[in-house]
Amino acid sequence: MIRILNFIDGSFQEPVSGLYLYNMDPSRGEVYGEIPDSDERDIEEATKAAAAAFPLWSSTPATDRFHYLMKIAQVIRHRMDEFAEAEARDNGKPVSLARAVDIPRAISNFEFYASAALHFASESHYTEKLGINYTLRRPLGVVGCISPWNLPLYLFSWKIAPALATGNTVVAKPSEITPMTAHLLAEVAQEAGLPKGVLNIVHGLGSKTGDAISHHPNIKAISFTGGTNTGKRIISIAGPMFKKLSLELGGKNPNIIFADCDFDEMIKTTLRSSFANQGQICLCGSRILVEASIYEKFRSTFVEKVSRMQTGDPLLNDTKMGAVVSESHMNKILDYIKLAEEEGGKILCGGKRVVHSGILSKGYYIDPTVIEGLGQECRTNQEEIFGPVVTIQPFNTEQEALQFANATPYGLAATLWTSNLKRAHRMAEQVHAGIVWVNCWLERDLRTPFGGVKNSGMGREGGFEAMRFFTEPKNVCIQYE
Ligand code: NDP
Repeated sequence: MIRILNFIDGSFQEPVSGLYLYNMDPSRGEVYGEIPDSDERDIEEATKAAAAAFPLWSSTPATDRFHYLMKIAQVIRHRMDEFAEAEARDNGKPVSLARAVDIPRAISNFEFYASAALHFASESHYTEKLGINYTLRRPLGVVGCISPWNLPLYLFSWKIAPALATGNTVVAKPSEITPMTAHLLAEVAQEAGLPKGVLNIVHGLGSKTGDAISHHPNIKAISFTGGTNTGKRIISIAGPMFKKLSLELGGKNPNIIFADCDFDEMIKTTLRSSFANQGQICLCGSRILVEASIYEKFRSTFVEKVSRMQTGDPLLNDTKMGAVVSESHMNKILDYIKLAEEEGGKILCGGKRVVHSGILSKGYYIDPTVIEGLGQECRTNQEEIFGPVVTIQPFNTEQEALQFANATPYGLAATLWTSNLKRAHRMAEQVHAGIVWVNCWLERDLRTPFGGVKNSGMGREGGFEAMRFFTEPKNVCIQYE
């Protein structure tokens, strides 16, 4: 049994309650560790430590902050295998994916924002017959970072790195379901010599520990990634307290395929955009819309390839699909598959739990599932399933594709497959999404804005957007003419 602790004021501490929660290994369906069951008292301690560290950290020169963040990146890189294995065990994702994507991306997040600390600048405006206006950008103080379980370290570091780069001190909570790499990050912060109190990591339930972050009057801003309902709850508490909020929420992303696309390239990428990380990426394209003239060809090719995809032990290097994150999440996905059938959908492949033998026999595995025959209005096509489940639907015209694409309350990402440049631009402009990929998927340049519209959230992360979020602009107007 691995027992992890909170990281507060530079040291590892027991939760005030003395209570612990079980940590599950979803690939084996068994408990393998314990994490602190923290509450508002631990958040109070963490916030005090962060507030005490703020004056020194916020006045630390950007070049020094650059070196601290680069050192963190360097130590994670040095411990890559340990991080990748911890992420795979905690989350159920293939270790090869954690090694190729999650951990390298967390390293890039620290490196990118280390360098952003050096390059971030503020505006100045010359005003005729008056003088000059310049804008100061100061850190906010203590900020809260709350992240989900699907890309644990990747998203945790995506928030923490810009918060630290801009001179804030942090109280952070990873998902209680996937706490291990956040714990390793605390060890790394210590090893990198980050001053005590600058980064505090508190483990526990969202409804207790997360809620305490929303309520705390001395936490000035919250950067949150997670479900839309949790986002609503955070706004309802933190909004009236005038906290700055960045909310990256759920999605129900369309993957729009026109007949004139590069078919082979599209199929290859659509397999990934449907099922990478067992479909548990907020950017996965779970609604596949296909131009009617190639619908039959698409269906037979896609279903044949999906039928050959197999789940397996995430800890083995050659596994491509692992377990879903928890038993309750598995049951939620299976309920949605049942609902899809009740709504008149036809399961073309998958549709059930996979029970492996031996040590995996109690793990949470679901066959990749393709469903057809459902309209836009049904719950299967309206609600986020967040698992290895996609629907496929034909469309006849560009207008109809757009209408289908925009027919949900979400607006996070969209993917377009076409070789018609004019159409790509037209569609990209009109589709309700904060991120549009044309003839590719999940390509990320860290300088670009990241976030969604409608129920997918508010605010943008990425590049200088995050640096702006974590700073308060103050305009100074000087008359000299
Ligand atoms: P949740 O909203 O359940 O949880 C996200 C985080 O919030 C967790 O750390 C959770 O803690 C915490 N939390 C839960 N309740 C509260 C609360 N009342 N106050 C404060 N914090 C709370 O999301 P999931 O972890 O289930 O993640 C999946 C969701 O995240 C999907 O909807 C997905 O689309 C979305 N997502 C969005 C992304 C984006 O960039 N837009 C990227 C990735 C995922 P705990 O887990 O310990 O309960």
